[in-house]
Amino acid sequence: MLSELSELQMLSLMHSIIPIVLLALFWCWESGAAFKPVVKKIRYRHAFHNLALVILNSLFLGLLFGASVELTSQWSLDHHWGFLNLLPLGSASKLLLAIILLDAWTYCWHWMNHHIPLFWRFHRMHHSDTYMDVSTATRFHWGELIFSTLFRLLLIPILGLQAWHIIVYGILIFLSTQFHHANISIGRVDRFFRWLFVSPDMHKIHHSQIPEETNSNYSTVFSIWDRLAGTFRMRGDLKNIHFGLNEFEQPEWQTLIGMWKTPFSSKTNQQENKEQTDSTDS
Ligand SMILES: [Zn+2]
Ligand SMILES: [Zn+2]
Repeated sequence: MLSELSELQMLSLMHSIIPIVLLALFWCWESGAAFKPVVKKIRYRHAFHNLALVILNSLFLGLLFGASVELTSQWSLDHHWGFLNLLPLGSASKLLLAIILLDAWTYCWHWMNHHIPLFWRFHRMHHSDTYMDVSTATRFHWGELIFSTLFRLLLIPILGLQAWHIIVYGILIFLSTQFHHANISIGRVDRFFRWLFVSPDMHKIHHSQIPEETNSNYSTVFSIWDRLAGTFRMRGDLKNIHFGLNEFEQPEWQTLIGMWKTPFSSKTNQQENKEQTDSTDS
């Protein structure tokens, strides 16, 4: 029991350290070989706002949810709840299955964030970033994080997830999101990489201001979900993609206060107008 506990603590420690190490690595990669050139002053200011946001988000979410993942997963294990607890599989197979199921859920959750107006109000703050780099990977509104944590807590007893499954998947998410948001390119390798994983070229399209492009490439770790659901999209001239949202381009929406205020603004943007047109058409 003690060794199990210390393994979980070790994983939690890795979950806290790995994103910082990755951030530093991708920051250096961007400094040496940026895909889109950027003025240094703008880059630092942009990163400062996004990183201030993630620090405050982490403190707030930590206070709000504390050890809820561990407690819920221990409860579902003790009461033999959940799909994975019914399967006669070894722990490695269960971990693999848990990662696949969690990634499929993350695809559905991301799709819901674009198509359910209340969720989009919060998620649009991630998309209002006019300059995308590694710090954009952590630019999420606390409202969206509260909703996603609550849904994930609900998934634990349904799927029979264990705390360490969620921590390992969390580490994979950091690795994938920081890589595909970074202002970098892996050139021709991207074509092969995106057969299985979400690549930087794929996710750049998701941050385009063109609604058809914003509403594509929802996957987080494995790209297969977009291919299965028919939402996979690629284009050439990636350097010409205009990032952000038309209505939230002004500098006031890029500050910490502006980002917090984004969900509560009455402004509608192209994405919402498109949703409204689609529902009137159908
Ligand atoms: Zn999105
Ligand atoms: Zn993104």
